Amino acid sequence: MRTRIFAVGIGLICVVSVFSVASFALPNEIAYTISAQLDTAKNIITATETVRFTNRTGTTLTELYFHVVPNAFKRGADTKYQQELQRAGIPPALIYASPNDDAFIEIKSVTANGQALAFSIDDTLMRVALQEPLADGQTLELQIEFLNDLLEASPQAQWAATLAVRSGFRNSTYTVTLWYPKVVVYDADEGWNLDKYSFLGEFYGDFADYDVTLTVPANFTIGCTGTILSERVEGTQKLVKIQAERVHDFAWVAGPFYRLEETELPHNIRLRVLSLGLSMTTVSSDAVNFFSERFGPYAYSVVTVAQVTVGGGMEYPGIVMIAGGSTAEIVHELAHQWWYGAVGNDEMDEAWLDEAFATFSEELYDIERLNAPSSARSSYRFREPGIPVLTRADRFPSLRSYAQAVYTKGSGVLWMLRWVIGPETFDRLLREYYARFVYKNATTQDFIAVAEEVSAQELDWFFDIWLRTTKTVDFSLPVGTWRQLEDGQFETRLTILRQGEALAPVKVVLYLRDGSIVETRWDGQQTTAELTFKSASAPVQAEIDPDHDVLEEHRANNTLSFPAFVLQRAICDGG
Ligand SMILES: [Zn+2]
Repeated sequence: MRTRIFAVGIGLICVVSVFSVASFALPNEIAYTISAQLDTAKNIITATETVRFTNRTGTTLTELYFHVVPNAFKRGADTKYQQELQRAGIPPALIYASPNDDAFIEIKSVTANGQALAFSIDDTLMRVALQEPLADGQTLELQIEFLNDLLEASPQAQWAATLAVRSGFRNSTYTVTLWYPKVVVYDADEGWNLDKYSFLGEFYGDFADYDVTLTVPANFTIGCTGTILSERVEGTQKLVKIQAERVHDFAWVAGPFYRLEETELPHNIRLRVLSLGLSMTTVSSDAVNFFSERFGPYAYSVVTVAQVTVGGGMEYPGIVMIAGGSTAEIVHELAHQWWYGAVGNDEMDEAWLDEAFATFSEELYDIERLNAPSSARSSYRFREPGIPVLTRADRFPSLRSYAQAVYTKGSGVLWMLRWVIGPETFDRLLREYYARFVYKNATTQDFIAVAEEVSAQELDWFFDIWLRTTKTVDFSLPVGTWRQLEDGQFETRLTILRQGEALAPVKVVLYLRDGSIVETRWDGQQTTAELTFKSASAPVQAEIDPDHDVLEEHRANNTLSFPAFVLQRAICDGG
């Protein structure tokens, strides 16, 4: 998701100070075979789904859990999502196109070996009771028949309401996401990860294989996760066979008005752009190439960029949804193909692993590819949000604080880490992290471990402070003197202070009269230090952290001018 900062209180009950920690996902082996028919007269999908599940939890299971997300959108339902909409003051008119419209999933049956299984649904979670315990290593095949009543998105949706709707249709274009029963991740510590669908928290899924057959009107064009194997028209219908391997979700778009542009990219990647008028191919191919070069090759053989009429910019494995069409939106969503898509994470517990990384990547693209100034970095927009980056997404009191902490501060933390360990080491870190966790779910602890290994530095102190606390730092330069030495050189002494409990090394520069610069790096571990510079020219001004490498909010006291120089210059100019 791409978000701009704006104030929408979602009025959650309280904010706990305990930071969130993601446990690691146990690698259950899952394969989905889904056959789905889109009925554009009734705006429903009827589908059968076969789930082949091999238990790799290390324990015997007596039940399976599935996400049934469309239940969140059921009008008037007592779901977490509906409660959040109410608290955020988002009326139904901004979500549903008409008072009669509704959206939900109806599970018609769950069977195994021809026997019906008992199931129950609570909010967006379905529990299926197994007839026989499933031992570790055993495989079970389930059949689920379901109906998905699609939401017709309100044309009035804007701001938060746009972000609140991710699946549905408008103007004959269908955006079908979060639409089928999906096995819940089983975590090492917590067991089933039973997070209900939330306004802010995004997703978490096991990497799995999908064979999907979609039946749509013959004049529809489809964009989807994975690779389209075949398309066959039968009368008024079109059957589209799709395969996707090692992805943690499957999403698709369909409609009669799409213009399809296909481009071959390096590394045998095919770019499919489905447009309703936006020009997206040039930016998309450039972004995919850039991220492939910087982080490692795109993880799949097809990447799809689709303009949508429902919701805002949004990422799904192998496909991104584009609403407005700005370069920033396209680049951000495509960056998620690395951070979210190929390297997955628990987006409720550790949203920064996808949103901060995508924001950082977007800024890196701006600076390195579009020659944006370094002020394009989030570091320049940093304001301490007062709630740690590593807070559960549904515990943020507002969309604004979520964006400030997870996107802006989170990206700023990555830029700061780049300063702490050096840009070349940081580049190696991202490549190594990507290579090691491609097709897997990663945790913050995994990233820290790779960062420490690649940099050969102990970095817990850094991540503890900047991700798990709201501690701040304020540097200042209260005193500075200079004198000319007998050899004609100049010696400048600066006293630097660090206030606040946060720690970071910082760059201190001295601007000289001849236009040159000398600089040093202070480790910032103590509260004060005296720094000595030698230079061939007299100092004009000293400045702490001129490049905003450190997340520091109060910068008015970061510079110190040398009045002696001003006086001297006045005399010279007067002469
Ligand atoms: Zn995003």
